[in-house]
Amino acid sequence: MTFAELGLATPILEAVTAAGYTDPTAVQAQAVPVALQGRDLMVSSQTGSGKTAAFMLPALQLLTVPHPVHGNGPRVLVLTPTRELSMQVTRASETYGRNLRRVKTVSIVGGMPYPVQNRMLKMGVDILVATPGRLLDQMNSGRVDLSRLQLLVLDEADRMLDMGFSEDLDAIVSKMPASRQTMLFSATMEPGIVRLATSMLNDPVRITVDTHQTPHVNIEQRMHIADDMGHKNRLLDHLLRDVEMKQAIVFTSTKRSADDLAQSLLQSGFSAAALHGDMKQSQRSRTLQSLRSGGLRVLVATDVAARGIDVQGISHVINYDLPRQAEDYVHRIGRTGRAGRQGIAISFIGIRDRGVVRTIERFTSQTIPITTIPGLEPRPRPASSPSSRPYDRDRSGPSVRRHTGPSAGRPGNPAAPGGPGGNFRHRDRAATGAPRGRSYSRPD
Ligand code: AMP
Repeated sequence: MTFAELGLATPILEAVTAAGYTDPTAVQAQAVPVALQGRDLMVSSQTGSGKTAAFMLPALQLLTVPHPVHGNGPRVLVLTPTRELSMQVTRASETYGRNLRRVKTVSIVGGMPYPVQNRMLKMGVDILVATPGRLLDQMNSGRVDLSRLQLLVLDEADRMLDMGFSEDLDAIVSKMPASRQTMLFSATMEPGIVRLATSMLNDPVRITVDTHQTPHVNIEQRMHIADDMGHKNRLLDHLLRDVEMKQAIVFTSTKRSADDLAQSLLQSGFSAAALHGDMKQSQRSRTLQSLRSGGLRVLVATDVAARGIDVQGISHVINYDLPRQAEDYVHRIGRTGRAGRQGIAISFIGIRDRGVVRTIERFTSQTIPITTIPGLEPRPRPASSPSSRPYDRDRSGPSVRRHTGPSAGRPGNPAAPGGPGGNFRHRDRAATGAPRGRSYSRPD
């Protein structure tokens, strides 16, 4: 299938070509024609599959025909769980809608100053991209009128439910016309999502593309056993000095450890910054902009960055701390290998991560190899110890491989900052195996 066969208007097709796309992705090929018929959609698709264009192209097509009722309220509403994803969707709308005259896309997210948002809303909106909490605030103040709404998109609906937005969603949807079209996108189709779909969608067409079980074939995954925090830091230092590492996102389990680790890396001369939910929106946007422009090499983040960040230069994702949920693992590693590129995802695992590792492997139907770096191997465990082979899971092959990256024993890469490896200190309270919690927070 080609883009031309999808039935899109010429200005949209031209914008897609200008974006460098040659063929639609699987989710686009399946979802766009159905969406253009006006049907409701329930789509299960993996992060990085091209789902934003799958809903944004039909949304823009809708705007090529004037609305029968004059007014200021949006015709399309895209709800997303995080501010970052909202920004990402807004950028996609501007990219694909660049040849359409007078399409106004506005993003309404928490953390943004109200006066700026109020001004933008006053000037009229075609496509509103929002996080639920702030949108509801603005609706309650009478600044957003959804009576002209024609299309509602729930992006990453599973995450919105996880983040406790269920009641906000109900309140928002109750204010829009029942005649609207609705598209729901979710990585999983758990019972909560099905309930949401039943209440908000009308006879939807179900599309399943690249479910979470599908391995990320273009992302090389591996794990390193870390004895303790010091060992993690030496492994990280080594990996960040690899010349193959262009840009990396390093995930930690808490906001505080993200701050601490970013600080330590900075002190060691790495270009690093933290990103988490306690930061001001302006700071978060600046950090992301610097990641996008290539000015920032290492982003140390909580799961707030696990979704919605689409920076093609991210060559590595490093799980300094493993996520508790297997779904988060899939989302995190999906930050690399974007748009068909190759990516590397590396996780540090401690003795207490055994259960999570098993859950991740079951969830992804993959066995993730454990590798070692010469000079940075984990301490050998006594053969008689019950935990001497803690990560063997009935594998047919050897469970431990040697990673042939730059040798840890060699002097520090002169091009890299800080001299020989392992010289930064991360004073994290969340030492290896420390309790982890979901570390993102509601954006609004
Ligand atoms: P998404 O899943 O929407 O976040 O998209 C993931 C990445 O794929 C983004 O960098 C898009 O720019 C890119 N992308 C989306 N559609 C296509 C396509 N048809 N061909 C090539 N790249 C695409």
